[in-house]
Amino acid sequence: MLQRRKISVLFSALLFSFAAQAGKLAIVIDDVGYRPAEENKVLQMPQAISVAVLPNAPHAREMATRAHQGGHEVLIHLPMAPLSKQPLEKDTLTPEMSSEEITRIMRNAVSNVPYAVGLNNHMGSRMTSSLSGMQKVMQALNHYNLYFLDSMTIANSQAIPAAQGTQVKVLKRRVFLDDSQDINAIRQQFSRAVKLAQRDGYAIAIGHPHPNTVRVLQQMLPSLPADITLVRPSQLLNETRHSGSRTPAVPVKPAKPRFQPAELCKVKQPLAPVPATRALTVVGESVSHSPLFSTLKSLF
Ligand SMILES: [Zn+2]
Repeated sequence: MLQRRKISVLFSALLFSFAAQAGKLAIVIDDVGYRPAEENKVLQMPQAISVAVLPNAPHAREMATRAHQGGHEVLIHLPMAPLSKQPLEKDTLTPEMSSEEITRIMRNAVSNVPYAVGLNNHMGSRMTSSLSGMQKVMQALNHYNLYFLDSMTIANSQAIPAAQGTQVKVLKRRVFLDDSQDINAIRQQFSRAVKLAQRDGYAIAIGHPHPNTVRVLQQMLPSLPADITLVRPSQLLNETRHSGSRTPAVPVKPAKPRFQPAELCKVKQPLAPVPATRALTVVGESVSHSPLFSTLKSLF
């Protein structure tokens, strides 16, 4: 009898630890619309893999439509001004733009990227760190019932305070998969996203349609741990733990960003250049070198 009770307690403990470990993982592939060949491979992946389409990319409409038809969630990948000097996409938002201008750009983006249910920033360290700039963005977003996924290209993004007083829900990226396009580095980042999802209950990872990123996803998605569920970002909107006041598990202190001119998402094809998002990584990296981060990391 005692033995049976012991087994039952052990079983409950196991169940509890399994439930505590279960995590939702959302993966978004940015910069879509320039490289259909590589992007089509992303659309062959599970439907929960989402895509963020650059509204002025040559294949924007086509890729958004194809993604939607394949059951993938579509986001608008809206170019926003970075702090560093980089080649910019057409209609890149700046904090100085008027509300009317931002509304016009948003309207075009919504029209060029059909089926979008959310929007995230392409670059944007300068724009997203401006409260007044982001307030104009949130006011415009409010008209379209789109959620905002903060790519977190700078630690002191103002997206959450700017969304106050609007209906716009804000999500935050946790991991960039391919700051380095080295295949082992991408594998490590993927594993990190999985661990964060297990530890915190959910995580959002962003990657780009680079051949090595596609390869890693093709290799690693089929063997995800059993306690990880792939989800669309919109499935995380009601996570109570997502409330704006929540302190991130790995604190991101407002940092002196060490901006580097390096580009994340270089386009291999001789089409228009896709400037990359590098700034966040930089912040991410400065955090990852902090003693606190090392301590947290050792807990995994
Ligand atoms: Zn981008």
